[in-house]
Amino acid sequence: MSAPEAGPRRTTPPVVRSAACISHADPAMSLGALPHAEEVLAVCAHPDDESFGLGAVLPAFAAQGAKVRVLCFTRGEASTLGETELSLGEVRAEELRAAACVLGIRDVELLSYPDGRLADLPLGELAGLVEDAIAGADLLLVFDSGGITGHPDHCRATEAALEAANRRRVPVLAWALPEDVAGRLNTEFATSFVGRGVTDLDITVEVDRELQRAAISCHATQSHDNPVMRRRLELLGGREYLRWLSCYPGSASA
Ligand SMILES: [Zn+2]
Repeated sequence: MSAPEAGPRRTTPPVVRSAACISHADPAMSLGALPHAEEVLAVCAHPDDESFGLGAVLPAFAAQGAKVRVLCFTRGEASTLGETELSLGEVRAEELRAAACVLGIRDVELLSYPDGRLADLPLGELAGLVEDAIAGADLLLVFDSGGITGHPDHCRATEAALEAANRRRVPVLAWALPEDVAGRLNTEFATSFVGRGVTDLDITVEVDRELQRAAISCHATQSHDNPVMRRRLELLGGREYLRWLSCYPGSASA
């Protein structure tokens, strides 16, 4: 998730929630049910986001037959964790590839935008890359629009995905945190996690974290000393929470 798991909060971009989205508004109604998708493209900012954040949800999509791919904008070279004599960006690229194998990710497109500066880049340029990467994907999976940790890179990656999805009319599902979990983390660690209330959480799924934990261990430079991430997984237990940022009638979300 590219340390630190704290950072300035950005303004949440506008979202499109059609009637198909709103029908999922009661999380209890959707307990245990991921939407059907033939091909899922996860759009991430940093190597490890796919594991630390999406690492329980991506294998669940793969297990129900979806082809899962990842687009990652940066190599995570600005992390304050895992300093090495080698190039951290290169080490983290290898960590990402190993984790992707564990999670059942078929393809990783790793770009080289500057870690920590995605918000400075033109949204249209980033969205264009997502649009190109969508190819046959019928669902985009992203971090919640508040960036989960509040990291500006996370927010920008999601903004780019939303812009691209709007052009291609592909639904966007976000991994989200319940506000009580975010609140506990912020109290315990003085972090800036952005949580959502129950009415904003559209889908609750039971997850198995075995593959996620194995993928996390692939990111040795980032997971060795990361008590915030471990506490987050502890608080979430065996559940993950998702919300629609945009969806379209007749698409994966309907
Ligand atoms: Zn990150």
